[in-house]
Amino acid sequence: MSQVYEKVALIGLGLIASSMFWASRRAGLAGEVRGFARSDETRAIAREIGLCDVVCDTAAEAVQDADLVVLCVPVGAMEAVAREIGPHLKPGATVSDVGSVKKAVVSAVGPHLPNGIDFVPAHPLAGTEHSGPRSGFAELFENRFTILVPEDSARAEATARLRRYWEGMGALVEEMDAEHHDLVLAVTSHAPHLIAYTMVGVADDLRRVTDSEVIKYSAAGFRDFTRIAASDPTMWRDVFLNNKEATLEILGRFTEELFALQRAIRTGDGEQLFDYFTRTRAIRRGIIEAGQDTDAPDFGRVKK
Ligand code: NAP
Repeated sequence: MSQVYEKVALIGLGLIASSMFWASRRAGLAGEVRGFARSDETRAIAREIGLCDVVCDTAAEAVQDADLVVLCVPVGAMEAVAREIGPHLKPGATVSDVGSVKKAVVSAVGPHLPNGIDFVPAHPLAGTEHSGPRSGFAELFENRFTILVPEDSARAEATARLRRYWEGMGALVEEMDAEHHDLVLAVTSHAPHLIAYTMVGVADDLRRVTDSEVIKYSAAGFRDFTRIAASDPTMWRDVFLNNKEATLEILGRFTEELFALQRAIRTGDGEQLFDYFTRTRAIRRGIIEAGQDTDAPDFGRVKK
């Protein structure tokens, strides 16, 4: 893979930015990567582990010569960061982000970017329950989708270049509009996270089941919820505050289905339960066939 950008700036140095740095360095996609994080502690860790070619003490310094600037902070922090860097951007630069919500980020960031900047928001559909500068790894984006949501004013060549950058990091790239993105993600990510948070919260509240039993027998299904429910609280608070409409729409449908299944259990309608579970099992097969998960038993945890 050859160089796609001469200078890249990563603002925020957590899981996603650090994975981008390692993936981009492995493939030689950037001449120089500058990074900025708000806390002294994160900047010190970044310097210690060699995360970014240069770690800057201000966001303005990180972005001033950059051809690509990527905002890798929680969704609720995007506006303040955009306001701070706006006046320091190089004319002709591309600004992007990795936020899990797109409509809110577009309206928070867009107004702070001067004319002549190509704004191409993005969202890599890859993550783990870990966060911070030490949690990143070069393989995170491999064979995972990254969705680009180019603004109408962005030049086609700027979008094509960002696509090459993500493809160089191993991602499969698709484009869609911000509203559609937020609805798709409400179904595939945001509502499932809320349900996992709720399920783990419910188990925690059940005093008839002791804490030690919840942990001891967790492999029965509960532990797969706990992985999702261990995701970063700041990030997920911001996701729900900023993708309100689509998440509430999906949760409304979820509640209706839950009531229907609840009724089937009460009335002993085994046929309805069986048909429902048969339909959902087929979705799992589709995910495996699309190469988006392993078909190894127990997600590959079983030692052969
Ligand atoms: P992370 O590991 O928690 O890192 C967040 C970074 O943002 C840290 O460097 C943090 O700085 C900085 N930051 C936090 N609040 C800030 C504020 N108010 N102002 C300025 N900087 C701030 O997070 P991440 O998982 O990489 O997530 C970053 C973005 O990627 C989020 O928008 C998230 O929605 C999106 N995303 C996450 C995932 C995932 O699974 N984790 C997947 C796809 C997209 P300090 O370290 O100095 O506090």
